[in-house]
Amino acid sequence: MARVLGFLVLAVILIAIAFGLGALPGQIEATIGTLTIQAPLPLVVVAFLAIVLVLYVLIRLFSLIFAAPGRLGRNRHERQLRQGDRAVTRAFAAIAAADPKAAMREAQRAKRLLPNAPLALLASAEASRLAGKPGDSEADWRALAEQPDAAFLGLRGLLRQALDAQDWTLAADLARRAELAHPGAPWLKAERARLALRTGSWAEALALAGPEAPRAVMATAAAEASTDPLQALRLAKEAFAADPALPPAALAYASRLRLGNDERRAEKVMQQAWAAYPHPDLAAFYLAPEPDPLARVKRAERLATFNPQSGESHFMMAQAALAAQLTGEARRHANDALAAGMDQRRLWLLKADIEEADAPAGGEAAGSAIREALRRISTARPDPRWRCEACGAEHAVWHPACSVCGTVGRIAWTDKTTPSTALIASTPI
Ligand SMILES: [Zn+2]
Repeated sequence: MARVLGFLVLAVILIAIAFGLGALPGQIEATIGTLTIQAPLPLVVVAFLAIVLVLYVLIRLFSLIFAAPGRLGRNRHERQLRQGDRAVTRAFAAIAAADPKAAMREAQRAKRLLPNAPLALLASAEASRLAGKPGDSEADWRALAEQPDAAFLGLRGLLRQALDAQDWTLAADLARRAELAHPGAPWLKAERARLALRTGSWAEALALAGPEAPRAVMATAAAEASTDPLQALRLAKEAFAADPALPPAALAYASRLRLGNDERRAEKVMQQAWAAYPHPDLAAFYLAPEPDPLARVKRAERLATFNPQSGESHFMMAQAALAAQLTGEARRHANDALAAGMDQRRLWLLKADIEEADAPAGGEAAGSAIREALRRISTARPDPRWRCEACGAEHAVWHPACSVCGTVGRIAWTDKTTPSTALIASTPI
């Protein structure tokens, strides 16, 4: 409408100008050499305007003819981009719909229309992954990883593949490269933490772990794995502070203190740990520096004061007393351990040993006591063991992670039997 109005206004103006020109008086005369031309002024103005118009039309025509190939190329390129974008969208829609055939078809089309475009490569890689063609996927991820802006996407895809293939070394390397490409990505942090656990890189796992992670377990394992004495001491201290009731953490810390000739602090750690969770390994560590049996009894009594009600304290004292041939004392502590609820095989075995040690003096009564103790072994509770609370596998020594089910931080000292009774003969961490 506006154009029509504009055209009408223009037409009116032109007509007005034409009338104006027609009404102009006068003649124009031009002399070129011997030739003289005379024409009325309106005719000269109209002729001039006509020449200008013809020149303008000719220039436009030439420019259109010469610019045509470029414009055609541009149009074709824009059309290709639009088609490529549509193919990418359709490929992702097919991936979301878990339709590998359509996803592959559209992704290939997108790659053809948009060669080396990150989104086309991403669609192609994901489609190949969906179609179960990891080799094709990998080629696309690699191509993506080489593009500065899309490197993280490529490395993420390669990392997922390495994780699927359980190639932990390659995965760890890719994770490090991905971290450089996009520092601090939360997804990557979680993956790196998982990888560190898988590869037993405990110090890294600890650094990446969140507050919900078993930090005492990780720090203990990291301390055991560390070759730097100062770092090992720091990690072990952190482990013990995080969980004083984890005997391996207390032992890791105290053993480093003992190595550094800080026996006083090592003993304090053991006393604190005994109060939190009395474990036979703590008693063995605490008594180790003392070779004399009678002095060991005194030492055991000192440690027992930090958890006097525990059956484990009485059991430790009974053992120490028996080793010092104080059978009366040993028997009393063994009975106290039983009264404290320790109805376990090891206690009845110890009672049998005590009665056997007393046998020459005890005569027939001692013999009957030995038989009674041995008889009770069959009905007593099993001795506590390191056992995975996740799968029930039994371990000869404590481990930060279960070698059967891979769970971290679930190996506990317990006499509870669980379905699995597989004994894992493994080396300490
Ligand atoms: Zn397990």
